Amino acid sequence: MSTRARADITELKKNAEGKNKDKIYCMFCSSKMLNAGAARLINMDFALPHIHSKAGDKANQSETISAYWLIEDMYTFENIGVSHTVDNVKYLACADCERGPVGWHDLSSKKSYIASCRVKYE
Ligand SMILES: [Zn+2]
Repeated sequence: MSTRARADITELKKNAEGKNKDKIYCMFCSSKMLNAGAARLINMDFALPHIHSKAGDKANQSETISAYWLIEDMYTFENIGVSHTVDNVKYLACADCERGPVGWHDLSSKKSYIASCRVKYE
């Protein structure tokens, strides 16, 4: 089963250039992930496993999320953790509390994607 996340609220989080207006934080522990303007909002469908309390917990269900923040370079992140790797995808989690996945990293393109609905903005 998968559910489709709404993208309309995320539209309010981007500026005129399509970048994030606000800083992006972990929604659980407020660890800072990205500075304002560091990522670009894109619409794409990708199924992310549901959030688990610790990285590495068994993920057996996923939801299709269609709004992601695209980060061209891993070094753009203020803080980010990685959990498990599946095929060409490395799942991203909070560097501090390890909750995730909050997004994913494509090992072949080296680009990272953060699910807009799995982070908070300030
Ligand atoms: Zn956290």
